[in-house]
Amino acid sequence: MFDFTITADDPQNAARAGTAAHTGTAARTGFFETPHGELHTPVFAPVGTQATVKTLTPRDLAEAGATLVLSNTYHLYLRPGTQLVADFGGLHSFMGWPGPMLTDSGGFQVFSLAQMRKLDPDGVTFRSHIDGSLHRFTPESAIASQEDLGADVIMCLDECAEPLDRKYNEEALTRTHTWAVRCRTAQKRRDQALFGIVQGGIFADLRIESARTLRALDFPGYAIGGLSVGETKDQMYSTLDVTVPELPADKPRYLMGVGAPEDIVEGVARGIDIFDCVLPTRVARNGGLLTRQGRLNLRNARYAADPLPVEPGCDCYACQHFSRAYLRHLFKTEEILGLHLATVHNVRFMIRLMEEIRRQIAAGAFADFRAAFLAEFRQPDQDVRHAQKEKRRQAANSK
Ligand SMILES: [Zn+2]
Repeated sequence: MFDFTITADDPQNAARAGTAAHTGTAARTGFFETPHGELHTPVFAPVGTQATVKTLTPRDLAEAGATLVLSNTYHLYLRPGTQLVADFGGLHSFMGWPGPMLTDSGGFQVFSLAQMRKLDPDGVTFRSHIDGSLHRFTPESAIASQEDLGADVIMCLDECAEPLDRKYNEEALTRTHTWAVRCRTAQKRRDQALFGIVQGGIFADLRIESARTLRALDFPGYAIGGLSVGETKDQMYSTLDVTVPELPADKPRYLMGVGAPEDIVEGVARGIDIFDCVLPTRVARNGGLLTRQGRLNLRNARYAADPLPVEPGCDCYACQHFSRAYLRHLFKTEEILGLHLATVHNVRFMIRLMEEIRRQIAAGAFADFRAAFLAEFRQPDQDVRHAQKEKRRQAANSK
């Protein structure tokens, strides 16, 4: 179980092709075996925060080609409680998703959502963002909760520090590493792949130290956490450049919480195999539709009488049956169907992107694809996005 087989990678293909155009990426494609099915990597996981990908049924997810779904331990621990989920046979049967699942440890939400948190070497005490009630996570309890939930891939409890704060990252890293050892020891179920999480902010030496420390613990996979949380894109990419080569080549690598299309392409180029992000589903509910040319804002008046589908050529249910004008009408009148159709499209967009990435890697053409994709895909203004993210983070912290 948890075998990871790489079927093609860019350096191999480059050697075969013998052309300079195909050098310079660490992209690879392969299969990761889990108890609920095989994952063809690189793979993108839609996020089902509360054991549901908002507005979609598991049938919709399967139709979109999704293979891996993520859920959040922090939220499920608070509501309905992980024991209740266990009583229903675990997350797969509770939410009706038969395929591979991944849960985080709950640590990230404690640091980003909880009203109050108090850290000590043994764990973290916090107040629920829902009702202010007092709770505590330790490495052992984070594993027990995830064993209740029963996902195929589970995460060590870690501490996600401010990416630019050197001193905080040094302290947090010590805790993260001690907790990783304790999580490994606490794990009872053998049918769940426990991933270690590399932390260390944007500091190359800390990232390298973290990767080496976790590698010595021999996890079945490795996650890179603490990115896309306030640093610039260049800082994120250069952190990946130093971190990925320190991780074992024969184990899957998971970049946590990163899923903007351009970041996926850049992450794959650096050797990442698994991604998850709320972005495609969250922006969908705000009328932001993803296309190869960039994000289209349905609320814009220019689409009021536009007969085209959201993205011509897309095979999703929304694009096959409805015009931009109709979707815009649903958003303007606040009809629930609009949220559903927009989410159907964005999830399918992400899955199609991954399908194409895998095809291009297998064909030895990923480097060219990457250049073409980035030339075509118009990114939202980085400064604006950075400011929005910072505002959301501060709002969450001040709650
Ligand atoms: Zn579509």
